[in-house]
Amino acid sequence: MKENQNVASGPSNLFKELLPAVEVSATSPVIIAGPCSAESREQVLDTALQLKETGISVFRAGVWKPRTHPGCFEGRGSRALGWLREVKALTGLPVATEIASSSHLAEALDGGIDILWLGARTTTNPFAVQEIADAAKSWAEANGRDVASLRFLVKNPANQDLELWIGAIQRLYNAGIRHITAIHRGFSVYGNTSYRNPPQWQIPMELRRRIGPKLQILCDPSHIGGKKELIEPIAQQAIDRGFHGLIIESHCNPAEALSDASQQVTPARLKEILDRLVWRHEDTETVTLANLRAQIDQLDDELMTLMQRRMEVARETGDFKMRHSMAVVQPERYEAMMERRAAQAPGLGLSPEFVRALLATIHEESVRQQLASRSGGKDGRDGR
Ligand code: PEP
Ligand code: MN
Repeated sequence: MKENQNVASGPSNLFKELLPAVEVSATSPVIIAGPCSAESREQVLDTALQLKETGISVFRAGVWKPRTHPGCFEGRGSRALGWLREVKALTGLPVATEIASSSHLAEALDGGIDILWLGARTTTNPFAVQEIADAAKSWAEANGRDVASLRFLVKNPANQDLELWIGAIQRLYNAGIRHITAIHRGFSVYGNTSYRNPPQWQIPMELRRRIGPKLQILCDPSHIGGKKELIEPIAQQAIDRGFHGLIIESHCNPAEALSDASQQVTPARLKEILDRLVWRHEDTETVTLANLRAQIDQLDDELMTLMQRRMEVARETGDFKMRHSMAVVQPERYEAMMERRAAQAPGLGLSPEFVRALLATIHEESVRQQLASRSGGKDGRDGR
């Protein structure tokens, strides 16, 4: 059997028994909140008690932290599990932590953790995910528990690979786990962007289409934005796209946080953000429309980037022509290019008239930019 049979194009029949990992209430959306890392008993309890007042659904805290560079704070490890148990006893909130291996899984479940999450770096690794899926099955058997009742959150892989995300969910599902929720936390890119991990909304939307409407999906605006100020706008965008809830990092003293300090907010600030968010009623049709619009926005982004690159090359061509005393426009080349593209148009489902008009506009801008670079930035259009 091919590994991705039935999920190749979707919607899939494979995930018929999928259930949400976080209980849904009729009155409030799913909100998971808590610090990036469990740092001390005081920090965990202080944050959790304040968060309880904001009406969150689940308390999160990283116990084992995957860090890019060695020497950074890697979490307090197993002893922090006891602090999470205290949170549960004091607040009644379910508690969640990240696991990345079979030993983490056993320790976390033995330690009373209710919800386990696979981080972005783990979802990229099929060996690690399979090891965790197998360990979940073994742990359930050994402890007289039904594996179907274990609860998992699966963050998207760090890279823009939808198949790895689906594959990770499928590995857990195939092991008998049924309560699986996806978390969209954005995707790593090289170079500076205004986001820490740009959202690439079309990928989670496609995940939903492929897995089907039973998939609960939450957005992690903290790791997408990487900055406090971006949490609210990103969260609102997720809500508008029909996400079922949010996971947000919150710390009683963000300035002193040992990891992800710039993106953590106090519980009081979190409450302000949550109060301002507008939750809309989403039905399948609005979700489908949002999905299509996300695809259009993405394609327009790609068009803009292509156009930018095309103009860069045009300017370089202009420089070359100038150095070799050539005219900017060679009419024969222009005619030949127009004819070739117009002939190609019907095969692409485009009309030759549209293609001619589009290319004429692009060509015109190209010539303007070449002339502008010849005249040292003055393009003559504004009368300078
Ligand atoms: C986290 O939630 O603190 C975390 C490490 O997230 P991610 O796996 O998305 O980087
Ligand atoms: Mn974090």
